[in-house]
Amino acid sequence: MLANYSRSAQLLADKLKQEGISHSGVLASIANTPRHLFVGDVLQHKAYQNTALPIGLGQTISQPYIVAKMTQLLLELGVTDKVLEIGTGSGYQSAILAQLFNQVYSVERIKSLQWQAKRRLQSLDLYNVSMKHGDGWQGWQSKAPFDGIIVTAAAVTVPEALLAQLADNGVLIAPIGVEDQQLMIFQRKGAHFTQQRIENVRFVPLINGEIE
Ligand code: SAH
Repeated sequence: MLANYSRSAQLLADKLKQEGISHSGVLASIANTPRHLFVGDVLQHKAYQNTALPIGLGQTISQPYIVAKMTQLLLELGVTDKVLEIGTGSGYQSAILAQLFNQVYSVERIKSLQWQAKRRLQSLDLYNVSMKHGDGWQGWQSKAPFDGIIVTAAAVTVPEALLAQLADNGVLIAPIGVEDQQLMIFQRKGAHFTQQRIENVRFVPLINGEIE
């Protein structure tokens, strides 16, 4: 199966379409991306299921549906150019973003995950992703402003630094909460921000402070 992953990846894209993902570019990126390369050997047989999976160090690769949903929201809100991801993890979401936006930036607090993700993207010839080991609560100030920011770990409150790093009309998509998490969209309109709730979600926490 894994030598010829493209049928499995296409079936996953078909499943996401049934679940409401409609953007053809997003569906194509799911069908094109070898998700089995983003999980360890023992979980490869589950890589094309629509589920989150452990990637070690207490972290997970997000469920494909939520990866597709957050990416589709960015596109629907007009983002095309510069996107920041907080929580690189396996690098799967970064690989999807790389196929749909001009320039992608991604921050991860666990060095070994960041390093593995970087190698995976290089092996897939995705060169428009810049990765940094750091604390996502701080965003990536020197590369700001961003047209879109997605946070792939749940924050208790919206990180102020991320709002500050949005371009005008820029969009931040983030799960907010601890047990009861809501996927939220924040959009900058000049000096103001609008906010909208999308759906209930379940992410690992966005850790405060120290990187490792
Ligand atoms: N986008 C990832 C999902 C990974 S899970 C994927 O597609 O695989 C969330 C990730 O956020 C974990 O790797 C975790 O280490 C990271 N994370 C948690 N708190 C963080 C912080 N404060 N700064 C940067 N990364 C953080």
